Amino acid sequence: MPKLKFFLSFIVFFISLFPFSFSYATKVIDKIPNNILIYHRFNDSRFPSTNTTIDQFESHIQYLISKNYKFITLTELINNPSYEKKTIAITVDDAYQSFYDYAYPILKKNNISATLFLSTSTVGSSEHLNWEQLKDLQSYGIDIQNHTHTHPHLPDLSIEKIEEEIIISQKIISDNLGFTPHLFAYPYGEASEDAILVIKKYFKAAFGQHSGAFSLNDPYYIARFPINENFGSIERIKNASSVLSFKNTGIEPSNQKLNVISNQKRYVVNFFEDPSNVTCYISDFNGSIKSQQNIMNTVILIELERPPVKGRLRFNCTKFEEGTYWYGYQYYVN
Ligand SMILES: [Zn+2]
Repeated sequence: MPKLKFFLSFIVFFISLFPFSFSYATKVIDKIPNNILIYHRFNDSRFPSTNTTIDQFESHIQYLISKNYKFITLTELINNPSYEKKTIAITVDDAYQSFYDYAYPILKKNNISATLFLSTSTVGSSEHLNWEQLKDLQSYGIDIQNHTHTHPHLPDLSIEKIEEEIIISQKIISDNLGFTPHLFAYPYGEASEDAILVIKKYFKAAFGQHSGAFSLNDPYYIARFPINENFGSIERIKNASSVLSFKNTGIEPSNQKLNVISNQKRYVVNFFEDPSNVTCYISDFNGSIKSQQNIMNTVILIELERPPVKGRLRFNCTKFEEGTYWYGYQYYVN
């Protein structure tokens, strides 16, 4: 009896979520991967969770070249998301000096471009690039885009403060580099409904830092595969570059910002197609979270065995079928 009650309440919850509203264009070609990698620091062993050694980076580039990936910038990807060739986008956040010293020469040597997300308040400080170096990158063809002014946790800010971050940083980039960015990356990959409201006003698309195949299903929260010393093996690059996206996906609750006191244990992932071979792994700061997963038509109803703790809560749903399909999402629990 309790089980039936649980299931009925789940159905009521589920029905209350409709209608989903997905008005965005989806990728035309499904079987061709167009994924995104994200890097931060290079050859800086003080920070293994955000660092990549230069040997690793060189091996990643050589692997991707050997597999005939076409390297593109995010501007190219967003302007033309239905590439008929498999592509990879290298992205680098925070504009550290180490990018210029170690990774940029490797990109130049191989005639490869990349996208750099810049927080304007740090420009010229001891560990970050200055405007002369940024101009040099720009003239080479590095796609420079916006990563706020002060790199805050956006879900903690008011709409007014978020907008202030964007207006200031857009102006500083425009004054110094002569163009206005049209793409945005959330600091720490942390978004919220409020942040997205603002970001939509100023940008064409925005990126998180959670694993997942590239897709325009959610153009203001696009996945990128984080790469670092611990997740920097060739096996990781092989998976990250080759995974495919589900045709459509959506998750409820859709607001990335969750209150820790809400004890949110129920989630609904909609695949808009039969998800019977899909498995979702959920994890937070304390490790993986066991869950009960029930399929109903095109959705998976997920009930966590414990509520998430403060910090980032990640969903990774995969399916193995003539390739690996990977949907990822990140919540910010506070
Ligand atoms: Zn950052």
